[in-house]
Amino acid sequence: MHRKVKQVLRSYRIFNKNCKVVVAVSGGKDSTALLHILHSLFSSRKDVELIALSIDEGIEDYRPLTIDASRSVAKRLDVPLVVKSFQDLYKITSDQMAAQNHAQAPCTFCGVLRKSLLNRTARELGADALATGHNLDDEAQTVLLNYIKGDIDRLYRLRPSRELNGMVPRIKPLRRVPEKEMAIYAITHDLPLGHGSCPHIPRAIRLEVKNMLNDLEFKHPGTKYSIMRGFDRILQLRPPGESFQPIPCSKCGEPSSDGICQCCRLLDQVMQG
Ligand code: SF4
Repeated sequence: MHRKVKQVLRSYRIFNKNCKVVVAVSGGKDSTALLHILHSLFSSRKDVELIALSIDEGIEDYRPLTIDASRSVAKRLDVPLVVKSFQDLYKITSDQMAAQNHAQAPCTFCGVLRKSLLNRTARELGADALATGHNLDDEAQTVLLNYIKGDIDRLYRLRPSRELNGMVPRIKPLRRVPEKEMAIYAITHDLPLGHGSCPHIPRAIRLEVKNMLNDLEFKHPGTKYSIMRGFDRILQLRPPGESFQPIPCSKCGEPSSDGICQCCRLLDQVMQG
């Protein structure tokens, strides 16, 4: 596990120098394990600063429990934790967006808003990198989802550790570690295994892709690794400079592809009901 994580970290070249890394911690097994692993690798280095960041999307009976879990792991490791909420910034919660029953699953809204709030906060904290707990399974699902939606630009945006205007480089140290290994790590290090799942997840297409991939992996072991190997080769076909460079959103100033960020676009849709 540590060997795979170190290999990925070396490829990012972030930890070679003085750096501040914000770790997105949802309170589940992957993100708390990520915080635990980074802490075990770097706590002895004075030039590396870790800050945990949790987002409260406003999901009753679920998110308060996971934020408590984040708080307890961060306290145990003596890492500062920052919590930001949808309600404070966007004046709406994920539960309220889900109640509107838009054709898009609530996860589309929730995911876009969370990603933006993570980036905005990491930037405000002066982070050199934003680390997320996506494991091999998550990454393979995302690649497949983008194929299914035919969204090749978004696929290229998954490129690891990119330098983009207004965006803190995102790193995914667990991207080569299968979910099952993460669960074993969480059990053996007394980390939270989960607090049930988000009540909105049954509406997510990602769940269907996850089940399909698990089925394929069972019948054809190595499928998830192959998807990621293929994706890494596809990335080499388009050099980083040729692809997306964000411009500031004319409404909120956050990075966007065409002058209005996805977050403002979705919020407009939500506010119209
Ligand atoms: Fe948000 Fe969907 Fe994740 Fe729930 S499952 S936290 S609604 S993205």
